[in-house]
Amino acid sequence: MDKQEFRKYAHQLVDWMADYLEEKEKYPVTPSVKPREIYDQLPATAPEKGEDFEKIFRDFQEIILPGMTHWQHPAFFGYFPANNSEPSILAEMLMSTLGAQCMSWLTSPAATELEERVCDWLRDAKGIDSKWKGVIHDTASTATLSAILTARERKSNWEINEKGFSGKEHYRIYSSSHVHSSIDKAIRIAGLGVENLVRIEVDEEFAMIPEALEAAIQKDIDAGKTPLCVVSALGTTSSTAVDPIGKISEITQKFGIWHHIDAAFAGTALLLPEFQSLIKGHEAADSYVFNPHKWMFTNFDCTVLFLKDPKDLVQTFSLTPEYLKTDLDKEVNNYRDWGIQLGRRFRALKLWFVIRSYGLNGIREKLRHHLMLTQKAAQWIEETKGLEILAPVKFNTICFRQKLDSADQNAENQFNEKWMAAVNETGKAFFSHTKLSGKYVIRWVIGQTDVTEKHIESAWVLLLETRQKLLQEI
Ligand SMILES: *Cc1c(COP(=O)(O)O)cnc(C)c1O
Repeated sequence: MDKQEFRKYAHQLVDWMADYLEEKEKYPVTPSVKPREIYDQLPATAPEKGEDFEKIFRDFQEIILPGMTHWQHPAFFGYFPANNSEPSILAEMLMSTLGAQCMSWLTSPAATELEERVCDWLRDAKGIDSKWKGVIHDTASTATLSAILTARERKSNWEINEKGFSGKEHYRIYSSSHVHSSIDKAIRIAGLGVENLVRIEVDEEFAMIPEALEAAIQKDIDAGKTPLCVVSALGTTSSTAVDPIGKISEITQKFGIWHHIDAAFAGTALLLPEFQSLIKGHEAADSYVFNPHKWMFTNFDCTVLFLKDPKDLVQTFSLTPEYLKTDLDKEVNNYRDWGIQLGRRFRALKLWFVIRSYGLNGIREKLRHHLMLTQKAAQWIEETKGLEILAPVKFNTICFRQKLDSADQNAENQFNEKWMAAVNETGKAFFSHTKLSGKYVIRWVIGQTDVTEKHIESAWVLLLETRQKLLQEI
């Protein structure tokens, strides 16, 4: 493709992109394709000769698009959103045009310094201690792994990095029983053994019970084991439960344990001052992660990890071969030393575009709108006979289900599973589920960038109609 063709097709694509964003609701939220259906439409071997862009783009529209789930559809209510927004998309276009590799200050000074500044902005806007420092990672999974590796190294005085495990360590990690699977994965990768993840009991709101945490830590110490790290959740993935951050920090401080706060989804809510009391006492914790790529209108991927003392993290990861050394290393941040990757994308640019384009107030307004819509939907559910909400609605996630008189839990679970599947099959809305205390619940997450009252009303009508049909079949 020559430069002139690039200009022509880039203009065409921008028009297509703008049309897509305007008309995204006309697509079914989830595609109705069978396994291998897309694969089988693609040639078995790569083309030897270059092909025209017109043809490539036609195939994108005819083969790929029909097999996509439309995460930006306003009736995407499943999992947690992975929102984009116009300013974020524009930043991605510039990022890929510059094609910069931002591993150190020298390899793109502006990328490093913009990253420092936008992380400071977010830290201050979220009410996180002003002494903490931030770094952008690809995902919360990676950021949490980095925190756990740093906790391991700090505890072993950086011995494991040098010599490997001695075999005498018996490190223990604690989290609530509603912990996200990324913690299990991090523990595996860090060589700590998933058996050493102690799942602490939760209260009736699915939040970690601090007394149970303290007792578990004491029991391990008495048994000669070494408590390493507590991972608390600000917004669990199942039901957005919030662990008592301040009380957990007191306990971790008392025992000299790393405290990592996983706020991957709900952390965005801290931009609203009324939610900042949730992290009261976090000053005594060690790290905090949240994903602007979920609820902060910054397209995937973009995670921010904040640390009380980045020195420990840098000591864990820095490893500077001769060819990467520069004269400036003492004066600047080289973010390659703040995590696992050497090469890094210029993700700060999209945060900068999003924050400036919306303004903090613009973002807050959107969040408040989502929270208001959620309260509305929760009220409809509460006022409907036979339906129940099984977890407190702390943010914008509702966990609800149909109860059945004279039925056992299995039958109830099956009913709710069928109900959700029938709704999703229409392609008009998309929900996902979880289990709370063994009960199958539908999760309704109202946080897509462009969701409005109209979308939740249509989804509600769809839910009720589908339910009615299924109830009649019983
Ligand atoms: C989504 C989520 C994660 C994982 O986030 P990734 O960025 O996809 O790795 C971790 N913890 C919680 C609580 C989450 O909601």
